[in-house]
Amino acid sequence: MKRAADSDERVYIIEPNEVGDLALTRPKSEGTLTWHFKMNNTRDVAFASSKSFIWDAARINLPSGKKALAQSVYPKESDGQEAWGRSTEYSKASVEHYSEMWYEYPYPVAVNVAADIGGMEYPGLNFCSYKSKGESLWGVTDHEFGHNWFPMIVGSNERRHAWMDEGFNTFINYYSYLAFNDGEYTNDLIKTRKYLGWLTNSSREPVATHPDRTQSNNLGMVAYMKPALGLVMLREYILGHERFDKAFRSYIRTWAYKHPQPNDFFNHMENVSGENLDWFWKGWFYSNANIDLSVDGVYPYGANYVVAFSNKGDMPMPVIFEITFDDGSKERRELPVEIWFKGNTWQHLLKVDKKVTKIEIDPDKIITDTNAGNDVWPSSIYGDR
Ligand SMILES: [Zn+2]
Repeated sequence: MKRAADSDERVYIIEPNEVGDLALTRPKSEGTLTWHFKMNNTRDVAFASSKSFIWDAARINLPSGKKALAQSVYPKESDGQEAWGRSTEYSKASVEHYSEMWYEYPYPVAVNVAADIGGMEYPGLNFCSYKSKGESLWGVTDHEFGHNWFPMIVGSNERRHAWMDEGFNTFINYYSYLAFNDGEYTNDLIKTRKYLGWLTNSSREPVATHPDRTQSNNLGMVAYMKPALGLVMLREYILGHERFDKAFRSYIRTWAYKHPQPNDFFNHMENVSGENLDWFWKGWFYSNANIDLSVDGVYPYGANYVVAFSNKGDMPMPVIFEITFDDGSKERRELPVEIWFKGNTWQHLLKVDKKVTKIEIDPDKIITDTNAGNDVWPSSIYGDR
């Protein structure tokens, strides 16, 4: 354990060929061996014990210079580099990423236990399926460790507000996925077109629905995916990285070891980002509203252009659009959400010094616009204008 605490590579504490050698963990003299465990600021506790465990560990490096110990225990059946042989590497990467990006991990250990269960989270300890391998083991390990931030550090009530627990976790998992090992695995959370079927299904419930009142086949979207997509839109499209990250880090820091309600989150994000987001909370979290921004036409106006936009959806959104000029160059402009506050049409005077050949709303395809056909001018054959 001492060697592991100084190593970025995993070190065996019980090697595969030592499994079952009970002398290793027996006291040298007569009597019983007592293990003491202590961890502060935890809202739950779990432990695992088996004479079949291989046990390995490696150091976790935290931003403040503090260290923690990533550990994995798993049976021989789960061993191997394509399976639990990488569990400690995954655990270390996951905890280091969340600590760097959002809030420093406060616990002394992060233990991944191979168990006969899909995945379940506790403070400082996960149970993940002993059958998981490769990307699926990375995914479940990263998700369960992500729960240390929600709801273990920020003590959300998952029985009422599952989206503040599973949803926030799914959101931070997205960036952890992208960061792991220079993109070894991919996460398609924001392939927004794939949600169209669900977003237009009349049996769906709003995010704010308590999980025991959500139809079980909707729970994945209501509690996990839709809130995560909402935060991605907030970070990538509405606020931008700098303002979002400052606000979300401040929310975690302020509410660490406390029990925030939804309004505490909404208020905090607005106060720190300096922007009223009522329209977004109401539309995305409390209703089934969909987004449908449209570019209806582009008209010459002297040396410039007038671009006609409309909001055909049930909730407003800022308009980020990309202009392509006849020399092939591109430029982005942004119209704030306030353009929709007095109505659903907006004539934008586009001042340019080159000929415009194309206008495209949301060029990075971040928002879940339910009708892509009216997002581009000139309209494609799929257009409906
Ligand atoms: Zn979860």
